[in-house]
Amino acid sequence: PSPLAPTPKLVIDLERMQQLPQDKAGPLARYVATIQSQRGDYNGRVLSIRQEDLRSLAVIYDRSPGDLTEELINWGVLDPEARRAVDAF
Ligand code: C2E
Ligand code: C2E
Ligand code: C2E
Repeated sequence: PSPLAPTPKLVIDLERMQQLPQDKAGPLARYVATIQSQRGDYNGRVLSIRQEDLRSLAVIYDRSPGDLTEELINWGVLDPEARRAVDAF
């Protein structure tokens, strides 16, 4: 992709997230549930989150934002495109 392409959105695949083991996805699932509750957005197959939420999640998982992004891509919860969102930090 072009370096001038807009920063991709961080879009969590909620169906994939629900298939993951609790010990991995538990903190993410609780964080996402909080955002859904705040927005009143319960019907989506995906949830777009803020860049700054990835920072918060990285603290929760005790990883760097880049490492956590790789993990979430490995789990199939984030699209590989999300790497460019973290490069923009
Ligand atoms: P807030 O941050 O004061 O945002 C108030 C409203 O502004 C939001 O109401 C939404 O309509 C709009 N808004 C703010 N930032 C954005 C944005 O980046 N994109 C879009 N599309 N709209 C935006 P809403 O959605 O009912 O959320 C209510 C409150 O819930 C927010 O108040 C915030 O405190 C929290 N919240 C909702 N979604 C998120 C999230 O993804 N991350 C975080 N950290 N907080 C969220
Ligand atoms: P997009 O952001 O690329 O999202 C594409 C589709 O993914 C959305 O289609 C929706 O079905 C789903 N989606 C993405 N993020 C969320 C989410 O946080 N919650 C839920 N429930 N679904 C999500 P949709 O709704 O037909 O929207 C089409 C396009 O319209 C969106 O493309 C976006 O560009 C725009 N759009 C819709 N709602 C908002 C909004 O609240 N704020 C902004 N800035 N754009 C919006
Ligand atoms: P989006 O709605 O397309 O917004 C893209 C970016 O524009 C946001 O990236 C943020 O930098 C800026 N932006 C949009 N609306 C507002 C606003 O009301 N206030 C401020 N300060 N900035 C705004 P960001 O924060 O990384 O969010 C990424 C996506 O996450 C948003 O795409 C939206 O789909 C979702 N999102 C984030 N916060 C909220 C929220 O409070 N409510 C809802 N419904 N969706 C949100």
